[in-house]
Amino acid sequence: MLHLDLNFGGSPHAVGVYVVNTDDGLALFDCGPSSTLPALEAGLAGHGLRIEDLRHLLLSHIHLDHAGAAGPLVRRHPELNVWVSEIGAPHLVDPSRLERSARRLYGESFDPLWGELAPVPERNVRVATGDVLGWESFPTPGHASHHISYFRDGTLLAGDAAGVRMPGASYVLPVSPPPDVDVEGWHASVAAIRVRKPERLALIHFGVHEDVDVHLDRLELELDRWAERVHDGMEQQAFVEAAQADAGADADLYDRVAPFWQSWQGMKRYWDKRA
Ligand SMILES: [Zn+2]
Repeated sequence: MLHLDLNFGGSPHAVGVYVVNTDDGLALFDCGPSSTLPALEAGLAGHGLRIEDLRHLLLSHIHLDHAGAAGPLVRRHPELNVWVSEIGAPHLVDPSRLERSARRLYGESFDPLWGELAPVPERNVRVATGDVLGWESFPTPGHASHHISYFRDGTLLAGDAAGVRMPGASYVLPVSPPPDVDVEGWHASVAAIRVRKPERLALIHFGVHEDVDVHLDRLELELDRWAERVHDGMEQQAFVEAAQADAGADADLYDRVAPFWQSWQGMKRYWDKRA
C-alpha cells in the first residue's frame, strides 16, 4: 500500500490517499479534490506510476476532500472504474446539488480550495456492495450517511469513518459536518469496524494508525463529548474553543482539515432533526 500526501492547501498531513492492490490491478483509495490533482500525479510519478496505471478508484464518500477530483480523473483516464456507495453514486453522475451546497458552505473559498467538480459518466460508476475486487466493502455511516469502508488483510480503508487523527497525536476528531451526521449510526459503524479486527486504520486525514482499539475508543469518547456539548446548548464559538483545547498542539492543523465550526453545525443539525 502506497501513501501519497496531496499537500492540500500547501499543508502536509492534511489529505493523503492510498494506492492499493486489488484482484484486478491497482486502485486508488479516495482521490482528493481537483485542486490537488497535480500533487496526486507527482506522488504517483514518485513511485514510477501514472494515472493511467490505476484501474479503479475506490471512494469512501463523495465529500470534496475525498472525491472532488473523480470527474476530472475520469476525463483524463476514461477507463477508470469509480466505486462508490449506492447513495453516493447519483451525486457523482450529477454533482450539481453537491456543488451548490458546498458553494453555500464555502463561499468565495470554494474555487481555490476545491477546484473543478465534473460529472463522472454513468458508464464509469460501479456501486460498491460486498466484495469489491477482493476488498470487503461495508456501510460505515455516521460522518456521512453514504460513507463506506473497505477491508482486506487486516487493513481498513477507513475514509472518515474512523475520524481524523494527525500522525503521532492521540486526539481523534469525530469530524461531523452537515448535513447528515448520525451519532448512533457512527457508533454502530465503529462496532462494525471492531468486528473485523483490523490491524491498521488507513485514514485520509491522516495516515495509518495501528493502535486500533485505543484509536476507536478515543473516537467514540470524543464523538459523545461533542454530541453532548451541542445537545446541552453550547454555542458555536464556545464549541470551537473547547475543540481547540481538546486538540492541543495540533489544533490548527485539525481545524484546517476538519473545521470545528462545521462540526458544530453538523451536530446542531443532528439534534435539531431529532427534536
Ligand atoms: Zn467527509
